[in-house]
Amino acid sequence: MCGIVGYVGKRNAQDVLLDGLEKLEYRGYDSAGVALALDGGICVVKSKGRLTALREKLAAQQLAQSFCGIGHTRWATHGEPSVVNAHPHYSRDQKIAVVHNGIIENYIPLKEELQANGVVFRSETDTEVVAQLFDYLYDGDLVGTLIKVLHRIRGSYALGILCTDYPDTLLAVRKDSPMIVGLGEHENYIASDIPAVLDHTRKYYLLGDNEIALIKADS
Ligand code: GLU
Repeated sequence: MCGIVGYVGKRNAQDVLLDGLEKLEYRGYDSAGVALALDGGICVVKSKGRLTALREKLAAQQLAQSFCGIGHTRWATHGEPSVVNAHPHYSRDQKIAVVHNGIIENYIPLKEELQANGVVFRSETDTEVVAQLFDYLYDGDLVGTLIKVLHRIRGSYALGILCTDYPDTLLAVRKDSPMIVGLGEHENYIASDIPAVLDHTRKYYLLGDNEIALIKADS
């Protein structure tokens, strides 16, 4: 169980996410990654090892500014530490991106069911099943689709979700794994631990088990 940070607001999400993930480094991790909402889709960048490797990879790509994104530091439970197994995980054509802390206990039958319906998986993780299942069930309604996903998955989770149809919105939920919503001025955050947002705000809301947060810059 490692670190999650999400941001939506007026600043460069990439910088806010990297700084937030750095604050969670003390928890240990084997890989890291971010998903950023950009014009024309979600960009996912991941790396194995230290956060500096991710910083360098992002700097080399010189992406356009993004104002909404999710980041993760991973402590592998299912699948070896690698770039492919690092989070965020994403669905076909990167429509849905997901970061996850915890363990999806019934990921094998879910994965088999989705594969039988033609879904192609990339990683060995339990987490990818959430991204693929969300995409498979997606009907344009973020909260409605998440509720359907929650009815199917078992285990422990803090989830941060991004969807290309809503590039100014973060979706979050948790069960048996911590997650807070940090409240700023015209910007908001999600984080698995308070230190990730303390530089920006002292106001935060502790999500309850299976309580869903739909977060925009002003709401
Ligand atoms: N079970 C997930 C994985 O192995 C999440 C691990 C974590 O909490 O960092 O990718």
